[in-house]
This record gives sequence, C-alpha cells and structure tokens, in this order.
Amino acid sequence: MICPRCQQDYIAQARIKVTETVIFICPECDSIWFGLEKIGRMPFLDYGTYMEGIGLSGLWDELEILVERI
Ligand SMILES: [Zn+2]
Repeated sequence: MICPRCQQDYIAQARIKVTETVIFICPECDSIWFGLEKIGRMPFLDYGTYMEGIGLSGLWDELEILVERI
C-alpha cells in the first residue's frame, strides 16, 4: 500500500520493541497508524512525536519491521 499522505513510499508493518505495539509506518514521511483499517482515514500521527510522547527516542532501531510492504 502506498502511503496516502506523501505517496512516496510503501507502508510497512512494524512492532515497537519495548512496548510491543504494532504500528503501520511510512518510511518516507514517518506517518504512523495503529490499524490497517485506519490508514488514510484517521489523521496521521508522526512517529518521532509519538515515540517522544511515550519516552522513547524515535529512532528506527526501536522498531522491528514485520512486513516491509503491506
Ligand atoms: Zn508517507
């Protein structure tokens, strides 16, 4: 699935290692969503902002990529 926000890259499914939260993320614009059905429908969240909000750095190391292109 192409990112509905930037249309520059494919959405990946990933897990935040520390919290085990599964997210969908665009590697290009760093938008994240918390459910497949929410992509393109819910306002996007920014990965860095979200991670800072839960006390993490927001680096890509904190993610385990589950599916590179959903
Ligand atoms: Zn994007």
